[in-house]
Amino acid sequence: MLYVQKYGGTSLADAEKLMNAARRASELARQGIQVVMVVSAQGHTTDEMIRKAREVNRRGSLREMDAYLAAGEQMSAALMAMALGTLGVGAISLTGAQAGIHTDGNHGNARIRTIDTDRIRRELAAGKVVVAAGFQGVDHEGDVTTLGRGGSDTTAVALAACLGADKCQIFTDVDGIYDRDPRVHADARKFDRISYGKMLTLIENGAQVLHDRSVELARDRGLQVEVLSAFTSEPGTILG
Ligand code: ASP
Ligand code: MG
Repeated sequence: MLYVQKYGGTSLADAEKLMNAARRASELARQGIQVVMVVSAQGHTTDEMIRKAREVNRRGSLREMDAYLAAGEQMSAALMAMALGTLGVGAISLTGAQAGIHTDGNHGNARIRTIDTDRIRRELAAGKVVVAAGFQGVDHEGDVTTLGRGGSDTTAVALAACLGADKCQIFTDVDGIYDRDPRVHADARKFDRISYGKMLTLIENGAQVLHDRSVELARDRGLQVEVLSAFTSEPGTILG
């Protein structure tokens, strides 16, 4: 069995939350399930980095922005591998390039072209939990690219599809997909299941729970995606 689990920024915002995510993955690993974690930058790291970059250059080069912003996810991945180490679970962090994620050269909004899964499979076969930095890849020049804001979801879906994962789980700060933002509307209704088409409509209308390309990719690959809370063990919403 192989699970891909993606943890968003709010699910990793501090050491305690990061350890909780590590614990959740470690329980699977102890059951003999192979786990690939995909992590976002912690908390508001990406927003803060963008603000900092603007302090030194109002219209910074997209190439340098990618090199800079991708570091947020890389820090999360390495921290997560260390957290798993604390729990006695063998783990290795991989950047997008190390994870074999090849993209086009469209800096700031790159598309994944191919994924060479050799390295990931080797690490899984060696009994390790693989922690992949989300949101990033590498182009034909070897330059770091990013997939657009919220792109870690797309990393997770793409890896799940290419690895033939048994489950693709997206952990977030809400416990599933709602017809309206549950953080704003108290009477929002949660879906147990939602179709790809309906989800894409919600995104068009402003829902931010999933990156649009992750939904298109899941649809095109016929992959089911579970969206659930990182803070509870309630069932979430099944996409697809
Ligand atoms: N850290 C990136 C962002 O804030 C990517 C992601 O979280 O999916 O957009
Ligand atoms: Mg997101």
